[in-house]
Amino acid sequence: MPELPEVEVVRRDLEHEVVGKKIKSVDVNSMRSIRRHRQRKLFTDPLIGRKFTAVERRGKYLLMKLDDGQVLVVHLGMSGQLLRAKSAKDAMAKHTQVVITFTQGGQLRFVDPRTFGEMFVTSVDELENEVDELKHLGIDPLETAMSWDYFGELVAQRRMKLKPLLMDQKFLAGIGNIYSDEILHAAGLRWDRSSDSLSSQEVRRLYRSMVETLQDAVKYRGSSLADEQYVDLFGQPGEYQQFHKVYARDGEPCKRCRHVIVRQKVNGRSTFYCEACQV
Ligand SMILES: [Zn+2]
Repeated sequence: MPELPEVEVVRRDLEHEVVGKKIKSVDVNSMRSIRRHRQRKLFTDPLIGRKFTAVERRGKYLLMKLDDGQVLVVHLGMSGQLLRAKSAKDAMAKHTQVVITFTQGGQLRFVDPRTFGEMFVTSVDELENEVDELKHLGIDPLETAMSWDYFGELVAQRRMKLKPLLMDQKFLAGIGNIYSDEILHAAGLRWDRSSDSLSSQEVRRLYRSMVETLQDAVKYRGSSLADEQYVDLFGQPGEYQQFHKVYARDGEPCKRCRHVIVRQKVNGRSTFYCEACQV
């Protein structure tokens, strides 16, 4: 499932590729991908003839702003991909659910095999009513700079285990199973440490590890796992998986201390960590 870095890579690609482009036509192959709209034309009509003016991100939601103040919202879900086609003649991937054709030629395609992702058009004012999650969305760790001592206060107040805390979307937006494990390894902290037990030095390490891990992941264009579901706008996989220190490395030696990486099931999800250098 794409996490914050992958969605941010797609956002930056979209900003380069679609801002200023005018929509000529919209084809919808699956109503499930536009399930918030009762009818196909309630999705397509507001888009046709409009131009994209900016692409923003709230958590893992992409907000593609239109020149009339409306916004095309995209959530990639488990397996969604946005792909730029230079020409309408480019081979269409299997499970292409929505195709946006530009007046200057070329297309933006939404491919989604498992159809957990979605697209819809709304106004900026209606956005939070439309998506409850956005009303309660936590801090964006890439967008919001804060002092580590303020971060420390927030962490201590929560009194939760660190991994579920990092993954709590009401606290921090966009961190999931992969990056929570990588951040905690970088910080040298165990996943089950209670958030109110950290020393100020540990808080500082956690904050720095969070920001650096996410920034590095964006720099290397996200993580694409064996299933290859996450790709960028040009269909290319990310490279950050090569730099993973713990995620899916159980049985292999820790890159910091050579101790073996372990895997533990927590609430049905795998957690990877080093028992020696994460305390
Ligand atoms: Zn280690």
